[in-house]
Amino acid sequence: MTKFSDLKLDPKVLSAIADAGYETPTPIQAGAIPPALEGKDVLGIAQTGTGKTASFTLPMITLLAKGRARARMPRSLVLCPTRELAAQVAENFDIYAKNTKLTKALLIGGVSFGEQDKLIDRGVDVLIATPGRLLDHFERGKLLLNGVQIMVVDEADRMLDMGFIPDIERIFQLTPFTRQTLFFSATMAPEIERITNTFLHAPARIEVARQATTSETITQRLIALTPTRRDQAAKQKRELLRAIITSEGEACTNAIIFCNRKTEVDIVAKSLKTHGFDAAPIHGDLDQSQRMRTLDGFRDGSLRFLVASDVAARGLDIPAVSHVFNFDVPSHAEDYVHRIGRTGRAGRLGTAYTIATPADDKYLSAIEALVKQPIPRVDAPEGFEVSEAAQRPPREREEERGARGGRSRARGGRDRDRGERAPKEAAVAAAPIIEPVAEPLVEAPRREERREERHEERRDDRREDRREDRREDRRERGYRRDRDNGPVVVGMGDHVPDFILRSFRPSAPAVEPEDSEVGEA
Ligand code: AMP
Repeated sequence: MTKFSDLKLDPKVLSAIADAGYETPTPIQAGAIPPALEGKDVLGIAQTGTGKTASFTLPMITLLAKGRARARMPRSLVLCPTRELAAQVAENFDIYAKNTKLTKALLIGGVSFGEQDKLIDRGVDVLIATPGRLLDHFERGKLLLNGVQIMVVDEADRMLDMGFIPDIERIFQLTPFTRQTLFFSATMAPEIERITNTFLHAPARIEVARQATTSETITQRLIALTPTRRDQAAKQKRELLRAIITSEGEACTNAIIFCNRKTEVDIVAKSLKTHGFDAAPIHGDLDQSQRMRTLDGFRDGSLRFLVASDVAARGLDIPAVSHVFNFDVPSHAEDYVHRIGRTGRAGRLGTAYTIATPADDKYLSAIEALVKQPIPRVDAPEGFEVSEAAQRPPREREEERGARGGRSRARGGRDRDRGERAPKEAAVAAAPIIEPVAEPLVEAPRREERREERHEERRDDRREDRREDRREDRRERGYRRDRDNGPVVVGMGDHVPDFILRSFRPSAPAVEPEDSEVGEA
């Protein structure tokens, strides 16, 4: 078996690895590190959990040990699809490079441009970035990419999923032809194949077993629910979810709850909180500092339930998760494997529950075909019954609440169910003020400049958030299309039929609603 000491890594890197407690390289590390150290391009087909981050950071640190960074010209570049993954790579880099003097900068949205510019100005050895933010810096003229000697593309298949491939191509073209490329992807879709054929030079190809099978350490369970009403299906599923969590008791130390859509993530998190469960959402709509805080809380054990979308949670390295709950059956079969792979890691035991309704049959068959085994069906927890309230039409319940004297949602009342019905409003109300995450400024710019800078940053962040959002939305649209609900209904938009534009009382004078109310009074 290969040992780390066989790999010709810098002794400083070897001692950092020993401090991290790693004894032997994982297969992707044993395969990718030697060619990377020889300066060859590497195509690694591996996914998170295989140790692939170290398989590119360790040789990078070794190779960069010689030489010095110049202002605005990073010597290496790591591109990650999401801010969280970029932050995770940066953390890894800090661990493995702790005995060296190498410098790094993390370019992600939600972090002040000014502070990032300062770091780049000083010169960095390693630049870790999301593609959008990197190009924003480049376009602002603050960054030169012609000094990049090593370029890493991490999670290329997710880049593809998120529509980042054109950005990646552009970045490839902005870096020198002579650069070394280390390229990682869990799958080799035709588009990824094309990119690697275009931009990689005779790469060493290392493929580690694809995770099409689920780990033996995960107990999988599926609970079928046939909603009594379609318009209350989600509510009934939330009741079932709570019952399952309760029935698991203390065995469920912490869990990730996956939903297919961002709106559902918010609703489920809010609903769990309303019912006394310690839960918080994570998805692309939330601002960066909130996402980081939520994630940190989940990692350090102060938050028990993380409600997540696939895009936000894939690739996150959270070592000890006792349970995964699929609130929705994922519409892409591989997502099932990724989701439940969040638990049962590193030989630990884990439990994964999936809630399925008859509408999910098609997706379930695809998942079972992929994992080559049926997901064991179990009954709902003993005594579980869908509440009477969840069997009545939502409108009826709303009226009942009005009759009880409770303030309706429309009036902004703080009803027990309000969270479930108005998650967006509630989420917005609860959203914290954006806090800068990066280090303090060395020299405080004048007030005016700072204000201007902040405006610009906010605008850029919003732009990046919107971009990320659109990507997640596109994915969700894909999910809805998959649902076979017939042809997409086109909103009226530009095609308003004539009769709608016609006035019913052409002779009456046009009145503003406020005026008419006054008139009636
Ligand atoms: P990654 O696939 O890079 O997200 O890594 C998954 C997890 O494996 C991380 O928590 C790493 O700290 C850990 N890890 C990486 N390399 C090794 C190794 N050689 N031995 C044990 N754990 C490792």
